[in-house]
Amino acid sequence: MVLEKFTPKKDLNRRAANYMEKHVSVKTVLRFETCSSFMLHATNAEMSARKMVISNRCGNRFCPVCTWGTAKKDAIKLSIILEAIRDIEDKEFLFLTLTAPNCTGEELGSEIDRFNKAVNKLFQRRNVKKIAKGYARKLEVTTDQEQYVTEELYKRKKPYYDRRSLNVGDPNPTYNSYHPHLHILVTVNKSYFNKPEQFISKAEWLAMWRECMEDDSITQVDAKKASVTGKSNAVLEIAKYSAKGSDLYHSEIVFDTFYTALKKRQLLVYGGMMKDYAKLFKNGDLDKYKKVDEDEYTHMLRSVWKASKYENVLRKFTPEEYENYNQRALLIEENNEVR
Ligand SMILES: [Zn+2]
Repeated sequence: MVLEKFTPKKDLNRRAANYMEKHVSVKTVLRFETCSSFMLHATNAEMSARKMVISNRCGNRFCPVCTWGTAKKDAIKLSIILEAIRDIEDKEFLFLTLTAPNCTGEELGSEIDRFNKAVNKLFQRRNVKKIAKGYARKLEVTTDQEQYVTEELYKRKKPYYDRRSLNVGDPNPTYNSYHPHLHILVTVNKSYFNKPEQFISKAEWLAMWRECMEDDSITQVDAKKASVTGKSNAVLEIAKYSAKGSDLYHSEIVFDTFYTALKKRQLLVYGGMMKDYAKLFKNGDLDKYKKVDEDEYTHMLRSVWKASKYENVLRKFTPEEYENYNQRALLIEENNEVR
């Protein structure tokens, strides 16, 4: 099936537009609803390679199509920044995950403020300042909308349920709660991981995070060395959207909670050396780290969204188009997979 990845996101867009309607102007909701209803892709006769040329994307951060595209772009950008920093600055990366116990939907906004304040405090601490040369951090929020403990939930959080003597089918104590947390990639010297006087253990990270959050009930903090390839988990965690689709569009009331808490907030933040390299990336100074697209493009695929699927028309390129879309340097491979 052509555009098999677009179709489900575009399909979800309609439900999302219904939820959006009360929050935004008619103009915005119209752009949102018609997002990516027209697309041109450079491709070949077999359609084995595809490259977006034009689309009427809406760019809204709550749009299922656009957030998916942004996450893919951010993953590529981030992996290039990491590769360049490792190459030029000879640095490595630490992957931190900072959490707190779940909160209610009403508390979500103020809880996010608390996280942001606390993480700034954490990076101001002397021993953290000493080792952190830069960071990229993403705020993510998940929600638990299972009224009863499901088999899947039980498997995933077995120790939690066992501590409370809960089994599959019992009322779920975290039903309708929200779980904000931070994923942070920290630039560190190579020596960080093997010099005991620099290394900060998981237990120390937890102790510091508790102090910054002023919350001793926090138990979940993770700190580990990150791999830096484009498909690395750390890169994808930072690049992916702040709320996964199955949570965000779960129901109108859940959407409203996410919308109110996440709108107008900066969710992906670069600092220090990562910020400097994000600028270099933007200016094209890191282009040599981009993967060159080796595919040959010969056809134009036109896709128009009608009813609930894309109608596709494939035609051959004009000679001018062939020239245009096969300038290799302009065609950067965008094949990173983002959840
Ligand atoms: Zn969109």
